[in-house]
Amino acid sequence: MPDGPNETIFGAILRGEIPSDKVYEDDLVYAFRDINPAAPTHILVIPKKYVVNCMDCGEEDKEMLGHLMVTAAKIAKDEGLEGYRFVINNGGVAGQTVFHLHAHIIGGRDLSWPPG
Ligand code: 5GP
Repeated sequence: MPDGPNETIFGAILRGEIPSDKVYEDDLVYAFRDINPAAPTHILVIPKKYVVNCMDCGEEDKEMLGHLMVTAAKIAKDEGLEGYRFVINNGGVAGQTVFHLHAHIIGGRDLSWPPG
């Protein structure tokens, strides 16, 4: 589990050093619009706790991870989505580019499967 300062861009967003288009916030998570949306609705939900990705999580993170998923569903409903893609890229080989855990909420258009 990382325990040093969070030098990622999302760490800077959480600290308010970089502006973000906030959608939702509570004690455990922060949600904001993706700067380069892949669909009409593209929101990122991140834990306030610094973890790199799911592979960095342990038993102690179950509440946070469950909360992330339940909160994403609430946000999707609030956005008026009929359905959405919930994606977490874990590791560079899976397409992760920012190394602070984040879930993508992607919706507002038909989505193809499988992803690339
Ligand atoms: P990943 O590829 O790591 O799963 O997703 C990273 C996401 O973060 C990308 O969709 C990218 O557009 C988004 N992103 C990167 N930098 C920023 C930023 O400074 N602000 C916002 N709002 N999104 C960002």
